[in-house]
Amino acid sequence: MNPTPRDLPCDLLISADLILTQDEERRVLENATVAVRGGQIAALGPKDSFADLQTAERLDLGRALLMPGLINAHTHVPMTFFRGLADDLPLEEWLKGYIFPREQGLTAEITELGALLACAEMTRFGCTAFADMYLFEDSVAAAVDRAGLRALLGEAVFAFPTPASASFAAVCDKVREQAIRFKNHSRLRVAVMPHTVYTTTREILRASADLAAELDLPLHIHLAETAYEVESCVREKGLRPLAYCRELGLLGPSTTLAHCVMLNEDELDELEVSRAKVAHNPKSNMKLASGVAPVPAMLRRGILPGLGTDGAASNNSLNLFAEMSACALLHKVFAADPTVCTAKDVLDMATIGSAAALSWPELGRLVPGGPADMIALDLKSPNLQPLFNPASQVVYATCGQEVCFSMVEGRILYQDGAYLALDHEEVLREADKLFAWARKKL
Ligand SMILES: [Zn+2]
Repeated sequence: MNPTPRDLPCDLLISADLILTQDEERRVLENATVAVRGGQIAALGPKDSFADLQTAERLDLGRALLMPGLINAHTHVPMTFFRGLADDLPLEEWLKGYIFPREQGLTAEITELGALLACAEMTRFGCTAFADMYLFEDSVAAAVDRAGLRALLGEAVFAFPTPASASFAAVCDKVREQAIRFKNHSRLRVAVMPHTVYTTTREILRASADLAAELDLPLHIHLAETAYEVESCVREKGLRPLAYCRELGLLGPSTTLAHCVMLNEDELDELEVSRAKVAHNPKSNMKLASGVAPVPAMLRRGILPGLGTDGAASNNSLNLFAEMSACALLHKVFAADPTVCTAKDVLDMATIGSAAALSWPELGRLVPGGPADMIALDLKSPNLQPLFNPASQVVYATCGQEVCFSMVEGRILYQDGAYLALDHEEVLREADKLFAWARKKL
């Protein structure tokens, strides 16, 4: 039983004209209050029922929509340093001509600056948690901790040395050490993240699955992103990527497959049986012309993908409101059917689906006992009036600039244009350093 508001101990009462809970019944509460205590939601309900409570601090957001923080199911946050560096190119040319050569000069410091800039962007645009795969993930952890956000962090595993790790064994050592160090951290978790089937080996993938099982960590991999990946996997390994991963022990409920653009009907059946999770990245897939993931077919099977932006180099933003809108519109036009990928489906993807893709299912909803991770939209913004259907407004009408409040684990990170955890001026100064680094000719 939830405690009654009258005898509820809490640190803060947050009220708003509307609360979009994303709970089991997808309730939307009018003129309601959330009670926060110790980083968790202690209770939520009608504002009147909390009126007699004496002890708590109160924050009335007024004409606002309070909702769970959005969750980015797949990204590479330090890649903000490549935003706009090279666009409108074929994937191979983009990767090999621009991204990979610069990544060779990567340092821990640059990675942290890139991640910090990303954290500022995500905080500003209503994202409270994300799954990150990159190099120097300890530097990402430092930035996330400073920003007060939540993240599932994974050092990218490759078959070749990187500026961050000389070998696969070195990555394993790092993951083991991080798993111990972050074991009791409430906002940072660790995953095993082999990059792709084509940048690793059979042995490395098998060992990655073993490491994840041994340490009880989630596993996250890019899968079936492009036709090239499928063709080369069939040519070199004799199997399509999903079957190859299954053979090596990678498929299971705590595995997340980013992209899944090229899955066929049989593979979707297999995905459903495996209960592996999906991170869908529609804008990145569109920008790199990779293709369209079969999301309506997933939804028909009861598979709810998470929603991700991918890195800022291939999107070029980390704005999940833009991603939700693009997701719904892409699938409607591709299926020539306006009834697929509804606003509710897409909002579920960016909250509950992404929480599952982070193997952190308690996130993505506002319920008693759950984490106090929430954002608010300023309903005084003219583009959000009138309001018939909150899910529709969030997916189709909101740009992200309307976010006026952001909280993670009961701590306010952003309110009415001001960052409370980060120093915005300092982030901008550091962004200038990033720009100077990224534009240097190699
Ligand atoms: Zn990616």
